[in-house]
Amino acid sequence: METIQENCGVFGLFSQYSCSTEVFQGIDFLQHRGQQYCGISTYDGTIHHETHRGRAANAFPEEELKRLSGRWGIGHVSLQDRQPLRWLTGIGEISVCFSGNVINANELIREMMGRGKSFLEGTDVEIISKIIIEGNNLVSGISDLARKVRGAYSLLVLSKDGIYAARDVFGFRPLIMGQDAAGTRYAVSSESRALQNLDMEVYRDVEPGEIILINDEGFRTVAQLDSPRRAHCAFEWAYTASMDSIIEGVYVQEARDNLGESLAQRDIDEGDLAADIVAPVPMSGIGHALGYHKRSGINYQEVFLYNRYADRSYTQATQRDRDKMAKRKLSILPYVKGKRIVLCDDSIVRGTQIRYKVLDLKEAGAKEVHVRIACPPLMYPCEFGISTRSYDELVARSFMRTGDITTMEQLRALEEWMARRIGADSVKYNTIEDFVAALMTERGNLCLTCFDGISPYPPNFIT
Ligand code: SF4
Repeated sequence: METIQENCGVFGLFSQYSCSTEVFQGIDFLQHRGQQYCGISTYDGTIHHETHRGRAANAFPEEELKRLSGRWGIGHVSLQDRQPLRWLTGIGEISVCFSGNVINANELIREMMGRGKSFLEGTDVEIISKIIIEGNNLVSGISDLARKVRGAYSLLVLSKDGIYAARDVFGFRPLIMGQDAAGTRYAVSSESRALQNLDMEVYRDVEPGEIILINDEGFRTVAQLDSPRRAHCAFEWAYTASMDSIIEGVYVQEARDNLGESLAQRDIDEGDLAADIVAPVPMSGIGHALGYHKRSGINYQEVFLYNRYADRSYTQATQRDRDKMAKRKLSILPYVKGKRIVLCDDSIVRGTQIRYKVLDLKEAGAKEVHVRIACPPLMYPCEFGISTRSYDELVARSFMRTGDITTMEQLRALEEWMARRIGADSVKYNTIEDFVAALMTERGNLCLTCFDGISPYPPNFIT
């Protein structure tokens, strides 16, 4: 995947002990969801609060974590903005962070400004906070989001009562609860890996439209709003989430394994299984390549070596510098010379990164490079703030300007065109049907808009 535009992760902990170190560790385990900003708020009668640019591990000194006192707190990592945001309000001091995107932000800002409200920057978290604050209490304020916000949100609100955790009524973004065996710590996280790595057991996912209060008594559902349907972002399993997470009861690793197996099965069925090695584009292609290897029996072999000491790419000012840095991060293993390689990745957006990788492998002497893509072709932008924002970013749209890929003939024609475009010997994608089957979830529970263009919103739902 080349261009995740925005993403973020949230983590909240209610503990019998001082919480800041574990909130810090929680967001550190979610760092793959956003590396530009990080922040923590804690409560001990008043809210203590720090946000930084950069990764949590580099940003929070020990002394600062000591200053963030209190038994309950929330944290955030982001590609886009500083969160949590702290507010002094008529319903008490609160701090708010969320993972998601407000599609109707401009309309909401206009409507609130028309009522005399002011905004600092008009960020999504500011809009969400202001809607919550307008409520009679926190539960009614959070409930109001479902009536007003068109978009995706998994939300944490820190207050004197404890931590409120809520998910939009479609459940686009994941949010999962966990607790330790002794009953001394209750946590909520964008991904289960943060719970597991802090020695907590997964309790369950927060339901779409559910509002939970976490305090000394554990988890309590304080409201359950009507959910028209579920629409979990299918990209979580294919790309966004860490491989050691479990989302909606489905292991991410198993889903990626299945996606890779499905690609191999198609090659078996079509008589195209002829390669010396199967390799991933790191890191996002690893699970898919392992699944391909499992079904095909072709040796799994890394072809790119990850240089963990290369400078962080987000510190580079221009796209050109970021591209150069990305290239420095991956060197090619000379072993590829003369090899026929199946190269697995999660998706093709613009097609530039995969093209560079194919060219690099060929320059290093690879005999053939066959690209296998876990996701179906990306035909529509994502309006929920997770993937691409415009048709211009989608290379598959250069092939098919309008309409959908609905037949195998159309898919094969796109694949042949894409192979020529990126210099590969062949390209194959999973079909939408195979993709859904690999996720082991009902199609009606998933958002697949970027593949099929079908919005999960019922007609006239918050326009
Ligand atoms: S449009 Fe695609 S990336 Fe966006 S929420 Fe739906 S599945 Fe996820």
